[in-house]
Amino acid sequence: MAIPEHLSLTIAKSELPRIVIIGGGFGGLKLAKGLKKTKAQVVLLDRNNFHTFQPLLYQVATAGLEPDSIAGPLRKSFEGNPNYFFRMVKVTGIDTDKNEIETTVGNLSYDYLVIASGSVTNYFGNEKIKKVLPLKRLVHALDLRSHILQNFEQAVLTKDEKKLEQMMNIVVVGGGPTGVEVCGALSELKKHILPRDYPDLDFSKMNIHLIEGTDRLLNGMSEASGQNSLRYMEKLGINVQLNTMVEEYEDDVVKLSSGSIESATVVWSAGVRGNVLSGINSTSVERSRLVVDEFNRVKGFDNVFAVGDVALMKSEEFPNGHPMLAPVAMQQGSHLSKNIKRHFQGKKMMPFKYFDKGSMATVGRNKAVVDMPGGVHVKGLLAWVIWMFIHILYLIGFRNKLIALNNWVWSYLTYDKGTRLIIRTFSRKNRKD
Ligand SMILES: Cc1cc2nc3c(=O)[nH]c(=O)nc-3n(C[C@H](O)[C@H](O)[C@H](O)COP(=O)(O)OP(=O)(O)OC[C@H]3O[C@@H](n4cnc5c(N)ncnc54)[C@H](O)[C@@H]3O)c2cc1C
Repeated sequence: MAIPEHLSLTIAKSELPRIVIIGGGFGGLKLAKGLKKTKAQVVLLDRNNFHTFQPLLYQVATAGLEPDSIAGPLRKSFEGNPNYFFRMVKVTGIDTDKNEIETTVGNLSYDYLVIASGSVTNYFGNEKIKKVLPLKRLVHALDLRSHILQNFEQAVLTKDEKKLEQMMNIVVVGGGPTGVEVCGALSELKKHILPRDYPDLDFSKMNIHLIEGTDRLLNGMSEASGQNSLRYMEKLGINVQLNTMVEEYEDDVVKLSSGSIESATVVWSAGVRGNVLSGINSTSVERSRLVVDEFNRVKGFDNVFAVGDVALMKSEEFPNGHPMLAPVAMQQGSHLSKNIKRHFQGKKMMPFKYFDKGSMATVGRNKAVVDMPGGVHVKGLLAWVIWMFIHILYLIGFRNKLIALNNWVWSYLTYDKGTRLIIRTFSRKNRKD
């Protein structure tokens, strides 16, 4: 694609080494913040001008939170730092021979490059399911929110029984934390909000299905968490189908290995794969991630690093790499900032070690599961309070914390969700991946 003449990515080079970071997600942002007192020119590039707190995307999608409360402007993190630069650009490739990254507005040279480009939705190569709705970016959450609400607005207008069934049914694919959380939030909408908003629809006909390919929910968590979340799902009236694969989605019919479901809404939360940018040698890529050593250095390079979801760091404890989780990305970003400082001081870099603080998932009001270090498992109200506290703690910015808390308290007390708005209508034709 030709670059418009009036645009350029030129940034004046100083005598300081230039560290280019691709991606202002959990890993990239933590790294950039950690480099603040380093004698280097730091350039952060992201296709968005904001950081997204992905663990709460499902709340935006289900009208629980407004998008602004789970995102924060990236430029704010750089205020008052003359050696810091942010550019909102999409990186299209990397030329490791020239030490340059390629973007839609031109190239930029680097002395050190850190790839923190995260992950993308994994459809496992199945072209027949491309009409499902992903939940990976903030635009996806807004699309999903609009799509669900548009369906109900259409449902009150339709005379066709089959179409009505398709509009009222929602299928969620993938029984990990996101799938479970989406189902829990949808069941709250079904129970407390939608019948009040649409009194002329019969909500006993609204079915929420959760489809999972393996024999349990929450595979990355303990057996107890899997079983408790299944119990919660059943209590909420969600139809869980385990050991079931989605084979095709066409004309509002989901074909499963065990039958089919009529549905105009299929949410895909069945997995992600590393967002590997073009230009990196294929010998450095494994399991769709960039192979890095214990210092997060990409295999085959001295000055190219990767952190977070895109990085595959194999160790005895994690032979297939670390799980694609926010704490891994944050710890790697923070650790790499210390290693870069050590490197500049002529000291040896320190190997990365992941500190697992546990994992959690919420199913709804007073229902959550938490696995803590040492095999401690918590469920119910206490787990739900822990879940809320941790999410508020890690949300970017004081303002966001306040807005999210305010929304949660309001909806807890009133059983209401204030953000069920169709701000811009969604059409599958305009869907972004
Ligand atoms: C719906 C959902 C729920 C989740 N829930 C949890 C949870 O409860 N707990 C948990 O620990 N983890 C959760 N995760 C996973 C967690 O969000 C990721 O592990 C984490 O975001 C990884 O951080 P990262 O820095 O590697 O990538 P990201 O945070 O994804 O950041 C990548 C950044 O790179 C930018 N980027 C990508 N490509 C380009 C490009 N070509 N040019 C410019 N910029 C680019 C993106 O805009 C983004 O800002 C969830 C993920 C999703 C999608």
